[in-house]
Amino acid sequence: MTNTIYIHQPEKAFSFTRLPNFLFEAPTFKPLSNEAKVLYAFILRRTELSRKNGWADDCGRIYLYYPICEVVDLLHCGRQKAVNTLRELQYAGLVEIQKQGCGKPNRIFPKSYEAVPNTDFKKSGSGTPEEKAYAWTIAQVKSILKEETYIGHSVHNKQTNISFKNKKKVRKPKEEWYRVENTHEAIISEDVFRQVQEQICNRRRRQKNGTTQIFSGLVKCADCGWSLAYGMNSQNKNPYAHYHCSKYGQGLHQCSMHYIRYDVLYAYVLSRLQYWSVLAQQDGDKLLKRLLNASDKERNTARKRQTAELKKAEKRKAEVDTLFAKMYEDWSAGRITEYNFNMLSEKYQGEQRELDAKIERLHEAMEAAAQTAVDAEKWIGLMKQYVNPTELTAELLNTLIEKILIHEAVKSEDGSREQEVEIFYRFIGKIE
Ligand SMILES: [Zn+2]
Repeated sequence: MTNTIYIHQPEKAFSFTRLPNFLFEAPTFKPLSNEAKVLYAFILRRTELSRKNGWADDCGRIYLYYPICEVVDLLHCGRQKAVNTLRELQYAGLVEIQKQGCGKPNRIFPKSYEAVPNTDFKKSGSGTPEEKAYAWTIAQVKSILKEETYIGHSVHNKQTNISFKNKKKVRKPKEEWYRVENTHEAIISEDVFRQVQEQICNRRRRQKNGTTQIFSGLVKCADCGWSLAYGMNSQNKNPYAHYHCSKYGQGLHQCSMHYIRYDVLYAYVLSRLQYWSVLAQQDGDKLLKRLLNASDKERNTARKRQTAELKKAEKRKAEVDTLFAKMYEDWSAGRITEYNFNMLSEKYQGEQRELDAKIERLHEAMEAAAQTAVDAEKWIGLMKQYVNPTELTAELLNTLIEKILIHEAVKSEDGSREQEVEIFYRFIGKIE
């Protein structure tokens, strides 16, 4: 016989050590030995002790002590293995070890996942394909070129959260930035920096043949998402402009050409804007109805379903609240045992949490639907401003259109070339 017992009810005598999931999920840490992962969990646990004792260095970084003999004891292994295991964590960047000398024990500074370099993108860029995640994009290079840190200035307050609940970052207007000059040594001279800024600003205006690049920033490849590059067929007797995917012909993971002539694109987009403009002038209300119904016939049914679900969840929430209060009374009056109280309260609290989450989710979904209606009205308002446009300008395009996706052309059965062009309008997205 052994001393182990089956677990029947919540056990109070145990204490637990938390083992972070990222050790098993993040590719950087997967190769660590299981011993190292266990040791890291115990090191983290010991930070509580450091917090209580106020063990932190001048920068406020928490440290702790974990003598090798204790690692030996914990992992039930030899001294060399204990040293190696600790070293594993050090190399993985999960702890920093500071020698004290003079026979004093080493200080261990535990680090968290976020602090380890080159891992952040794995969390945030979950949808990015591997080869693109590491690639420099034009936007990244541009942001570096514009970064004043390189000329010795610090700029703060550039972005903020939407609200304390919504952690999405938004950029703040330039007027609200705080600029502190000469906070550190510059690595680029101010003159060179200014020259670069001027070149960036002027780059778009320089077109050799006088055509303005009005689609700049709007036309994208439907397959890889990169911007289309603008080109000129100048060998031709009647030179014409065209676009192609900027990832076409670039290295291993190249995209196909996605070729479209400038005049073809121009005529198509203009015809679509004229079409919508006419409808907006004629009868804005009718167009609004059409936009909302056409984009989602299911939206109406969805709203009805959501309202019913919300009502049901709110009703159950009130019931559970009452039941919980009643049970609390029963327990205070000694009508039910503490064991039953604990068991039931766990059950009720679990249900309350679930209901709260469900109610919030439903509210959000319904607000989003209402927002769509507001956005559609906004867009029709804009459409009315541009009465029957006869030419396209950068201003017109940027006001009304979010992006234009160009698909690869296909040959149809009769041999003619067919190409899909998707226009996503501001506020309302794609409409038919
Ligand atoms: Zn492409």
